[in-house]
Amino acid sequence: MLVDTYGRTATDLRVSLTDRCNLRCTYCMPEEGLQWLAKPDLLTDDEIVRLVRIAVTLLGITEVRFTGGEPLLRPGLVGIVERCADLDPRPQLSLTTNGIGLGRVAAALKDAGLDRVNVSLDTLRPDVFKTLTRRDRHQDVLTGLHAAHTAGLTPVKVNAVLMPGLNDDEAPDLLAWALAHDYELRFIEQMPLDAQHGWQRDGMITAGDVLASLRTRFDLAPEPDEERGSAPAERWIVDGGPHRVGVIASVTRPFCAACDRTRLTADGQVRTCLFAREETDLREALRSGEPDGEIARIWRLAMRGKKAGSGLDDPAFLQPDRPMSAIGG
Ligand code: SAM
Ligand code: SF4
Repeated sequence: MLVDTYGRTATDLRVSLTDRCNLRCTYCMPEEGLQWLAKPDLLTDDEIVRLVRIAVTLLGITEVRFTGGEPLLRPGLVGIVERCADLDPRPQLSLTTNGIGLGRVAAALKDAGLDRVNVSLDTLRPDVFKTLTRRDRHQDVLTGLHAAHTAGLTPVKVNAVLMPGLNDDEAPDLLAWALAHDYELRFIEQMPLDAQHGWQRDGMITAGDVLASLRTRFDLAPEPDEERGSAPAERWIVDGGPHRVGVIASVTRPFCAACDRTRLTADGQVRTCLFAREETDLREALRSGEPDGEIARIWRLAMRGKKAGSGLDDPAFLQPDRPMSAIGG
């Protein structure tokens, strides 16, 4: 098992498949100039599947989430999903995506064994979408969401980040829309993980702001604690149920004590936390011919370095060198 020195066990693996993306969300990437990972440094499809197999068969991982960058840009995605779904024990498989292109591959992903998707969509207004993501692709995301739901990649979750002065008035509209389409909406607090280092605590929209805004139109009752488990989202029952809305308050109400994550970057580095400043190289071990047991040992050792918390409240907090798009959100 992947146990850290604070007694937490990681059972949830986030695998970044690429650091590239077809959007340029302002809270994630700069407009231009971001250096991509070099092609030879990226794990091959075979290397990814091998590491997932080691994680599932030797290290107790039960859930695998593919992310990026934009994971739908990875040509081998469907094959990777299919091979991971063949593993024994079979992990739960999900994908976090901006939804562009999902219209074309949702059914193939479902057939390959993907269980569900999280699609990121911050606004219902095409003009605001264009400002926020610097690309005019709003309709593509809506098409992708619809296809995911039709393909049965459910529950379809929608991730939204609210940015001051842009879409911070949209929380109730987003929730009404999500309820109408049977999507489970979760708001994510903006974190200091953008490549431009532009995050400011003073300006950010907090979980408290989101809830106050939602309560202008909806009745929200807290979900019982026992239903939350190690999930990062605190969830509220909307208007008496059965629908829920989630808020991931990574900054103002961190959930580090219950964290069950371990992360693998597209270039084969283990990260124990989004905010970690240290990484452990598995690619070198893979490519120098180490057996599975040795790779599992290195991964277990990496987890011993996992910190108690994100360190965001520490005045000496330093943002990791890797931006969100290269970590895998
Ligand atoms: N490209 C895919 C997408 O957007 O869903 C997957 C990768 S993206 C990095 C994963 C999630 O991280 C998205 O929901 C995105 O909104 C979120 N994200 C990116 N930068 C963030 C930041 N600085 N603070 C909070 N969430 C962020
Ligand atoms: Fe791309 Fe996702 Fe980052 Fe937006 S949040 S720029 S879609 S990786």
